[in-house]
Amino acid sequence: MSEFPVRGQALVVRGPGDVILEERTHSAPEGNQVLVEPHFVGVCGTDLEITSGALDPAYVRYPLVLGHEWSGKVLAVGEQVQGLRVGDAVVVEGIVPCSVCHACRAGKTNLCENYDELGFTLDGAAGPAVTTPAHLVHRLSADVPLDAGALVEPGAVVLRGLLELDLVPGQSVLIIGDGTVALLAANLVRMWSPSSVTMSGRRPEQEELARALGVDHFTVQAPDTAAFDVVIEAAGATAAVETAIDAARRGGQVLLLGIAGHGNTAKLPVDDVVNNDLRIRGSFSYTAAAWAETVRLLNSGSFQPLPLVTHRVHLDDYEKALDLLANPTGGPRGKILIEMHGGK
Ligand SMILES: [Zn+2]
Ligand SMILES: [Zn+2]
Repeated sequence: MSEFPVRGQALVVRGPGDVILEERTHSAPEGNQVLVEPHFVGVCGTDLEITSGALDPAYVRYPLVLGHEWSGKVLAVGEQVQGLRVGDAVVVEGIVPCSVCHACRAGKTNLCENYDELGFTLDGAAGPAVTTPAHLVHRLSADVPLDAGALVEPGAVVLRGLLELDLVPGQSVLIIGDGTVALLAANLVRMWSPSSVTMSGRRPEQEELARALGVDHFTVQAPDTAAFDVVIEAAGATAAVETAIDAARRGGQVLLLGIAGHGNTAKLPVDDVVNNDLRIRGSFSYTAAAWAETVRLLNSGSFQPLPLVTHRVHLDDYEKALDLLANPTGGPRGKILIEMHGGK
């Protein structure tokens, strides 16, 4: 059994531009709570927006422990918890739905009116432990590498968006962007057997990684206009949104997954949207259903995101991780993982 309180270093954002390592403690879980020890924590562009203060203030509450893409092991369970044991390899839904608001009752837990999310408004995983309600904890199969679990969160974000589209076999798919979300979109959209997956990226170094994850054609040129059945914007830039709308063929669908910065706007060619009969869809985060489906795909072996991991750093080297994220240089860059326990 663990000694309480559990203590250790945490990556804390005290406010915009103010990031430090600081000790955090966790007491024993009570009732229906589970205490989970994070082992792998992915970082992404959203973490940079949290550290810089660029994220819409409605979705963040400082100070906070960073880390919303992660996997770990159960350290202790409250006396009412059933079906989870100490040592279980798990992932934890980051959005904590209130379960009583209108959105939650309709299954749209991503739109919970009492929004709370680990690593945004609640302490995240880049620390000694996370205390969470048991119903948000999902067990990983014994044959799933624990580090792959850190890709469940971004995988669920992408899967939720894809599930909102009308995807049928044989569609031509364009993905704009070459970061983790774009690469996951390429990987997951293949489940619908598209005729082709084209990625319009910015860094030629990403091509090999993109191909390994399911991209047929990789280009750093502007994509053809009016050429694709499905266009997924995953670059998080206003220009990419404009490119996405231009690239959709008549009757096409455009999915917006990128976060382009609070208050930024893109030009909308209104006549083209109407005349081309376009469907434009934004998708925020993931629902509990999309999360559960992502875990199911991971546990069954249908979703194998591990080739996406290109960098691993220790918590002490968090600055390196954030720097790599902000300035990708020298070779391919996929997911950057912070290894909390020496990578076990
Ligand atoms: Zn993320
Ligand atoms: Zn709710």
